[in-house]
Amino acid sequence: MTISEIQARKRITLSFEVFPPKTDTSLSATIDVARQLDSLGPDFISVTWGAGGTTAGRTVEISQRIAALGRPALAHLTCVGSTPETVASTMTSLKAAGVENVLALRGDFPADATSRELHPSLRHASDLCAILKKEGFCVGAACYPEGHPECANRDEDIDNMVVKAEAGADFLVTQMFFDNNMLYSYLYRLQKRGVRLPVHAGIMPIVNAKQVARMVRLSNAYVPAKLLSFCDKFADNPSAMRQAGIAYATDQIIDLISNGVGGIHLYTMNKPEVTRDIIRNVDAIIGAVNAS
Ligand code: FAD
Repeated sequence: MTISEIQARKRITLSFEVFPPKTDTSLSATIDVARQLDSLGPDFISVTWGAGGTTAGRTVEISQRIAALGRPALAHLTCVGSTPETVASTMTSLKAAGVENVLALRGDFPADATSRELHPSLRHASDLCAILKKEGFCVGAACYPEGHPECANRDEDIDNMVVKAEAGADFLVTQMFFDNNMLYSYLYRLQKRGVRLPVHAGIMPIVNAKQVARMVRLSNAYVPAKLLSFCDKFADNPSAMRQAGIAYATDQIIDLISNGVGGIHLYTMNKPEVTRDIIRNVDAIIGAVNAS
């Protein structure tokens, strides 16, 4: 089933992200993570594409295993590390695997990349959006409530979002954010520019204090004082930190749903137990809204 079809049926969709392992030896462990996440009943599960295409085959394989469980899969695909030929062969593999949804991305360059060159026909996510759309995929694109770090300002960021929407994106998945007001003001700015695509809000549960610095470096997200306070207070107490992080993510999700956001996307970090505890806190709420 495509994500557009799911969105048409439900007021709130719940989805999870998994990432493939760096080597084939851990593939079965990641497939087990995907199975455990599947048992929590999400509407779809997304599978990242390792920086520079380093996990290409494993992304396709895990997506195929998810689809085989009867769960819609969203395979990520990046311009970085791709050529028109590799994109064509990935699309063929995904179709054969029963994967109908693809998140079109420019992608990150691997930390040790010696060149940051892109194929001239694959410079931006919008180039991939157009190719995937033409091939009949349901296409998602990434968006950045606090602006993409390479953009001079937020207006330029929205201008580039409009290009992705016009190139064929069917829905958007946001970068993680820790202050819901960042998303609300972004949604307002998107609407003002006429972008009315469904948005899946990316929530990253912070369950260990060291994670904060890393996530901020990766995402540039603003970290509210409330989040910093519990990270300081419980940094050396893993179970308290875990409980506080789950409570914070739960609070964010309830606020998003209360304010009419229709897509909740959990960055699971391949931790099904944390995901399960968050879902226990919100499943009745999601069920009630979907039944209303
Ligand atoms: P683009 O939309 O191409 O944007 C990149 C930059 O170029 C932005 O500054 C944008 O404003 C600008 N831009 C876009 N279009 C144009 C244009 N036509 N002209 C001029 N400038 C333009 N990375 C991975 O490697 N693998 C993954 O699986 C992965 N999954 C992700 C999932 C989500 C939900 C998110 C939010 C990010 C993910 N990333 C992933 C990281 C992402 O690829 C990086 O943030 C990357 O720097 C930008 O990718 P993009 O798809 O947004 O690119």
